[in-house]
Parts: sequence; structure tokens; C-alpha cells
Amino acid sequence: MTANTFDVLNPATEEVIQTVPLAGLADVDAAITKAAAAYQKWREVAPADRSLLLRRFATAVDRDLENLAQLEVRNAGHTIGNARWEAGNVRDVLNYYSAAPERHFGKQIPVAGGVNVTFHEPLGVVGVIVPWNFPMPIAGWGFAPALAAGNTVVLKPAEVTPLTAMRLGELALEAGLPEGVFQVIPGKGSIVGQRFVTHPAVRKVVFTGSTGVGKQIMAGCANQVKRVTLELGGKSANIIFEDADLELAAASAPASAFDNAGQDCCSRSRILVQRSVYDRFLELLEPAVLGITVGDPADAATTMGPLISAQQRSTVASFVPDGAPVAFQGKAPEGPGFWFPPTVLTPNLNAPSFTDEIFGPVVAVVPFDDEAGAIRIANNTEYGLSGSIWTSTVDRALRVARAVESGNLSVNSHSSVRYSTPFGGFKQSGLGRELGPDALDSFTETKNVFISTAPN
Ligand code: NAP
Ligand code: MG
Repeated sequence: MTANTFDVLNPATEEVIQTVPLAGLADVDAAITKAAAAYQKWREVAPADRSLLLRRFATAVDRDLENLAQLEVRNAGHTIGNARWEAGNVRDVLNYYSAAPERHFGKQIPVAGGVNVTFHEPLGVVGVIVPWNFPMPIAGWGFAPALAAGNTVVLKPAEVTPLTAMRLGELALEAGLPEGVFQVIPGKGSIVGQRFVTHPAVRKVVFTGSTGVGKQIMAGCANQVKRVTLELGGKSANIIFEDADLELAAASAPASAFDNAGQDCCSRSRILVQRSVYDRFLELLEPAVLGITVGDPADAATTMGPLISAQQRSTVASFVPDGAPVAFQGKAPEGPGFWFPPTVLTPNLNAPSFTDEIFGPVVAVVPFDDEAGAIRIANNTEYGLSGSIWTSTVDRALRVARAVESGNLSVNSHSSVRYSTPFGGFKQSGLGRELGPDALDSFTETKNVFISTAPN
């Protein structure tokens, strides 16, 4: 039974590329029932065999990498270089966690009168809710460790970007994962996503998206004390001190704010520059921003594609009204497509463009006077996802990195997501950590078993 359908658009052309059936409530319930049945068998698959199946899944993704990347270019407007990286990230995350089934050790704890051991037991069915900004990586960060830990997965892609997730679902079956272990269910958040929250057989929800919806999901999960991981918004600071390599800081700032057209929860969308080098920094930033090539994302020479939708473009545009303090602005194509030019603002500290997540190619630059002032501005937000610190002084780099309330910081670089290191937010940017060695713990429960050795 299918409730209705959704016309998936190419955001660079506004053309319909595919019409996708949307799951109704009965479809979701059937998928969850199937996942619950599959769980009973999946958790019993020998660790080495579960590892092998995940490695085969990774190989299937690798063989399909170019197809997946081209699909993402059409469906999400990602540049082809980024889209290839994203498909490769799914492969790498699967390979990383494929080692886990044989290595997720419990403990043997010394106690009197017996032997005490702990087990990491899988949870059951895990529901993964994915946003439209990084459809492939964010899906993989949820399903790969969940499957490795012995859970089965139902995954809801964002309504506007379902195509790569649907293909990943097919690849899992081609790789030999049993039916029902990993199912992709395109549909509305209010139906499919909400059912993950309310269905008692779904034991955990992994959600990435807006802080508003994340709060509703957390509140809903409280009813069943359902486990939840949240990856929400950000308004991250890129802090540039006067002793930094200013040329490098300016050259790298545009990509850190405008990659994926700024539709990135880790976007360094607030640039804080020490007052003594503020003017010089802006001089260096201007050519770097004007050098961004906005256009056809399938063209390898393009460095920025369109926004995801007309709605997203009008939200972004609302932060740049007539009379906005625009320092400089790049160019974007005219005509069809949800284009917006890379834009640099110099607002005051309480302007919405400085306080709110924009999720588009708009960055705000402000001056600060000293280290304490930089930290105060950086932390004056409910968000705390990522950030960067540019300085040539090692003690300052460490002091500031410890003082900024954020889950992922980089010094003299902008890297923040590596599959082997933990990723997640402070404050209202999220709850829990994905990736890295510890993510498995959030897909399992610790069980303690004591075995008496007393003679009887
Ligand atoms: P969103 O509404 O939070 O959507 C994220 C996912 O949650 C989508 O799959 C969505 O489904 C689903 N969803 C929506 N309402 C739901 C509900 N009541 N119960 C369960 N699932 C639900 O995000 P958005 O509207 O796409 O984007 C809005 C803003 O969120 C952005 O402008 C940005 O600020 C932020 N955002 C942050 C991230 C991040 O990585 N942290 C990612 C995307 C967006 P549908 O597709 O059907 O709506
Ligand atoms: Mg929404």
C-alpha cells in the first residue's frame, strides 16, 4: 500500500528526475516487523560472517561508486568531486566497522566467588533518519556501526534526496545481507520518521537534521525511554589570531564555510578575526571568495553547486535583505536552478546572520580584541558542533581549543570528520557521538553476568 509519490528534482535544473513512491503507515509497520524478524537471525550470525558481509557490502559500494556519485550530483546538486568522496566515505565506514563484530570485546572483572563478564548486546531494530545535506555519509555513519553491532536497520532518507539511499539498499542485498537486515523506506518525516519514534519494536533512533525536529524526536523517544543519538545544527567559529598564517587562513576560509553550498552542519559560518589583522584578512579573503566557481555540479571545474530547493534558497536569501552589510559577493548562474552566490557579511554580533544557522553560502566576519574576547564570542551560542583555530602559538592553540564549547575542533586546518574519530555536538548541536571506536557502544547495551564458582 502506497500513500502517494514524490517528484525528485535536480536542484541545478529544477527538472523532475524520478518519481518515488512514498511509504504510508502500513508500509512502515510492515518494514519494522520484517526488521524485527530479521534481527533474531542477524544477531546470531557468526561474528566473522557478519564481518565478511559488511566487507562485501563495502566492495559493492566501491564497484558502484561512480553511479552513486552521479546520482548524488543529479539529486542533491553536489559537485562531482564531493559526491565521489561521499560514496567513498560509505565504503570506508563499512570497512572500518566490518572489523567490529570480532573485536567488540566485553570485560572480565575481578570479583569474589565467581567470574564476572560483560557482553555488548545489540538493541534490536534501529531507525536512522537522514537529512538532505549529506544523504550518503550520514546514512552510513548510522547504518554501518548499527549493523556491525548486530542490529537491523530501517532508514528514512530525506524526502527530497532518497535516490542514493535507495541504491545503497539494493547494494546491501546484492552483497548478500539477508532480507530485512537493512531496509530503506522513502517517505515523509511526519509519517515514516515519526513512526520510528512511536513504534515499540524500534529500540533506537539516530537522527540528523534541524534542532527543532531533533527536540521533538527526543521528547517522543522519552515515552519508551528509547535510545537516541542526535546530530543537529551548528554555527561554528573560525577564530583567526594575529599570529596566524593569514594567507593560508584566508585561502582556506571559503571552503570551510561554502563547501556543499554552505549546507553543512560543520560550516565555519562565523569568522572571528583579531582586530589588528582584520582589514588585511578581508583583503586576502575577497579574491578567495570571488574565485569560487558556482555552476553545473557535474563539471569537475565547478567548486560550488546549487542549494537543495527553492525553499532553502528563500530561507538563505532572507538573511541577506536589501541594505545587508555585504562586504563582497561572488557570482551565481541565472535561470533555472536554486542558485545563491557566495556572500560575505560584516554584521554586528546580534544580527540574525551572526546568531542563526543559515545553511547556505553566507559567512559573517567580525573582529575581536583578545583571546578572552574570541572565546566569549565563539561560545555565545546554543550550538557547539565544530570550529577552527588559527595561530602559530601552541599554548594558545591548546588553551583556546579547550575553552571553545564544541565537539570537533581543528587547529590550522578545517578538518572535522574522520571515520576513525568521534563526531558530535556540545549543547544544542546534539547528543551522543558517531564514528570512531566508541560509536558501537551506542548501538549496544552492556550486560553484566556473574557466574558463581562456589562448589554446590
Ligand atoms: P529536518 O526537518 O530536521 O529534516 C531532517 C530529517 O528528519 C528528514 O529526513 C525529515 O523528513 C525528517 N523529519 C522531519 N520532520 C520529522 C518528524 N516530525 N519526525 C521524524 N522525522 C522528521 O531538516 P530540514 O527541514 O530538511 O532542514 C531544515 C534546517 O535543518 C536546515 O536549514 C538546517 O538548519 C538544519 N539541518 C541540519 C542538518 C545537520 O546536518 N545537522 C542537516 C539538515 C538540515 P522530510 O524529508 O520528510 O522532511
Ligand atoms: Mg523540515
